[in-house]
Amino acid sequence: MLLLLATPAWSKSESDQDDIARQYEQAKAYYQDLVTHDKGKDRNSWLTSVTAFRSIYKAAPDHQVAPKSLFMLGKIFQTMFSQSGKAHDLDQAISAYEELSSRYPGNTLADDAFFILGDIFRSDKKDPGKAARAYAKIIAIYPEGDMAAAAQERLLQVKHAATTPSPLPAKEEIREKCIIPQAVDEPQQKDLAGEKTGMATVLPIHHWSNKRYTRLVVETTGPVTFKHQTLTGNEASPRRIYIDLHNCRLSPESIKTIPIEDGLLRRVRNAQFDPQTVRVVLDTQTNISNYKVFTLADPFRVVIDVMSNDAPPEKAKEPDDKRKATTRGKKVSPANKAQSPTLARQLELGIKRIVIDPGHGGKDPGTCSPSGLKEKDIVLDVALRVAKIIREKLGCEVILTRDRDVFIPLEERTAIANAKEADLFLSIHVNAAPNHDAHGIETYVLDLASNKDAMRLAAMENATSAKQISDLQAILLDLMQNSKINESLKLAGLVQDKMVSGLNQKFSDVSNLGVKKAPFVVLIGAQMPAILTEIAFLSNPEEEKRLRNEAYLAEVANHISGGVAQYVESMRLVANYRHPISR
Ligand SMILES: [Zn+2]
Repeated sequence: MLLLLATPAWSKSESDQDDIARQYEQAKAYYQDLVTHDKGKDRNSWLTSVTAFRSIYKAAPDHQVAPKSLFMLGKIFQTMFSQSGKAHDLDQAISAYEELSSRYPGNTLADDAFFILGDIFRSDKKDPGKAARAYAKIIAIYPEGDMAAAAQERLLQVKHAATTPSPLPAKEEIREKCIIPQAVDEPQQKDLAGEKTGMATVLPIHHWSNKRYTRLVVETTGPVTFKHQTLTGNEASPRRIYIDLHNCRLSPESIKTIPIEDGLLRRVRNAQFDPQTVRVVLDTQTNISNYKVFTLADPFRVVIDVMSNDAPPEKAKEPDDKRKATTRGKKVSPANKAQSPTLARQLELGIKRIVIDPGHGGKDPGTCSPSGLKEKDIVLDVALRVAKIIREKLGCEVILTRDRDVFIPLEERTAIANAKEADLFLSIHVNAAPNHDAHGIETYVLDLASNKDAMRLAAMENATSAKQISDLQAILLDLMQNSKINESLKLAGLVQDKMVSGLNQKFSDVSNLGVKKAPFVVLIGAQMPAILTEIAFLSNPEEEKRLRNEAYLAEVANHISGGVAQYVESMRLVANYRHPISR
């Protein structure tokens, strides 16, 4: 009879190490026996083999046979899948290979595991996206390995297949995923940050900047830990900020030096500092008063906000061309074009440039109603109306973060507002709640969540889990140092009141849920008064009906603009007091 008992993990003596090696040889012999003889038709025999390799891996994860055992587990479950056709068996195989590649990235079997994963996703799971990612990881992480050339070939095949019409639809199509409101106690998804992490790859860095502000976003293929520090320099070698990302590699397509030259930062460099560490260095051109680093999940990214300590000059005298912002080299919206000087500008008024942010877009539809009405479409409609009214009636310049159905990451929306030195930021959303009776209007400013519902909503709008929201709360006070909390509250109050009182004149039972606080990612780091308004509940049947009504949306836009107008007017009084206008 075969002895399949494993040694406890705490035994590290040489004889125990030999025992583990011996057990592995026995398990391997048993496996060979199954493969070469008829016994392999019996599922229970395979399960015995699974138990053997799993015990070895569990007992001695540091032993050199541990990754081999995971590899064997993957192979066995693949065989079981071919016999049973059960998706569960295939999933077990996938998780064994994934564990191998993430836990033992330096092992010679790691790239083989990625390759097999690629083939499973391509052939069995019919998921070319995941297949491509697995092959791409081999090319990125093991460019010198023996699987790199084959992975490159497979990657091309997958990409070719993706552009060639397939006679049969794939099992799982990539499609929009509506946000479903959930109670705050049920995390929407696994908390990736808490999981075991393998080697992550650093993707190309994005940045938005002007001479007083720069936001950098470093995306990685998985959660990473990091540390950051400043180096005080002299004239020859100015001050630097660096961020070390642990357990990371640079992807080949990541640019090594990004010239910025905006007066604040000279450039950003990244390099493989040591085999496990990617260092991102920010070379500065002037005194940095402040910088903040925080992380966002799904996909994992590290966000770095850098501020100068130069006081902003008189805005009204600043020509447009100095306000140019870098936005990944792509056009954010036609509305971004500098406009001819407006009446408001000429009068040196307080509020000149307003960013309107229609929530979600593209692959992110936001919340959806059972009949298929999508938040992203409603808020775009309202935002375009608000933009038109504000331009025409207030004479302010309006920048839309999106003016069509396109996906824009949350941190990019704030970065646009900061880099463009906007005076107000207004994000427009539609609410949803597990309780379908919930209805009404609420407007938010950035702060610690005022209650559980605010927490739930922030998790929903941030497209993240409740756990990650509480992590965010912990660092929020530090991140909020530069936020204009009092002005934001004032703006929120005016917009909320105008909407509620205005809509109640034409429609019945428009509930006032008030001004609230929550940690919305889209508001983090905004250097101007910034609010997020939830114009109605798509989860409420009555309000869903209203959101289909053009007249209702027009009224909503009217009253949002009315609230903004009141705020602008109040600032105008302040401006006139400071710089009296001759009449
Ligand atoms: Zn939303």
